[in-house]
Amino acid sequence: EGIVIAIDGPSGSGKSSTSKGVARARGLRYLDTGAMYRALTWWMLDNGVDVHDSAAVAAAVGRPVIEMGTDPAAPTVSVDGRDVAVEIRTKEVTGSVSAVSAVPRARELLVSAQREIIDAARRECAGIVVEGRDITTVVAPDAPVKLFITASAEARAQRRSKEIRTGDVAGTQAALELRDKLDSSRAHSPLTLTSDTAELDTTGLDLDEVVALVVELVDE
Ligand code: C5P
Repeated sequence: EGIVIAIDGPSGSGKSSTSKGVARARGLRYLDTGAMYRALTWWMLDNGVDVHDSAAVAAAVGRPVIEMGTDPAAPTVSVDGRDVAVEIRTKEVTGSVSAVSAVPRARELLVSAQREIIDAARRECAGIVVEGRDITTVVAPDAPVKLFITASAEARAQRRSKEIRTGDVAGTQAALELRDKLDSSRAHSPLTLTSDTAELDTTGLDLDEVVALVVELVDE
């Protein structure tokens, strides 16, 4: 049976790059669960669903077909057959995703889709690295390797600014902190650290160093 590596952490902590790096280093599949919440949010916006109307969101969650490609060298995300990799990274989607992911029906549906992808990877492959904000607590609490990746707010804002190519680091930091607050202040917070999860602070480390540290942990 394949291994499951669960990686949680806030935006900009480096969890995506780290997860992909670890998956490539160990020949595992890779799943970005945030991309699934983003894809669902993109569909809601594209179909005129008011994302702040939780009943409307709940009624619509089953309509789009979201598919994930789990090759860490070229992960893909599509909605009803359309590649939405670029669309899900817009400001509009980023600004609405916390509202959609707060809807219990949306979480239920995506968590069960995520578990199916994980089960398939365990059966058919060497395993999978899964990243998100509730992976170690809700999606895969029994994963043999559980990690919570953090970095200082400044370091996270700097990385995210580079990613989205903006010079406005202060604005990026404010937006990140707001989204973290929205994500962690709801009833079922997807951003929690538990005692059986190792915390890794990546402030001041570069990606290669972080990947090497995690691979070491995996090989133990
Ligand atoms: O990881 P990323 O920043 O792309 O995630 C986008 C959003 O999706 C988060 O801000 C959060 O609202 C939601 N999310 C979630 N549970 C996950 C992954 C992401 O609620 N497992």
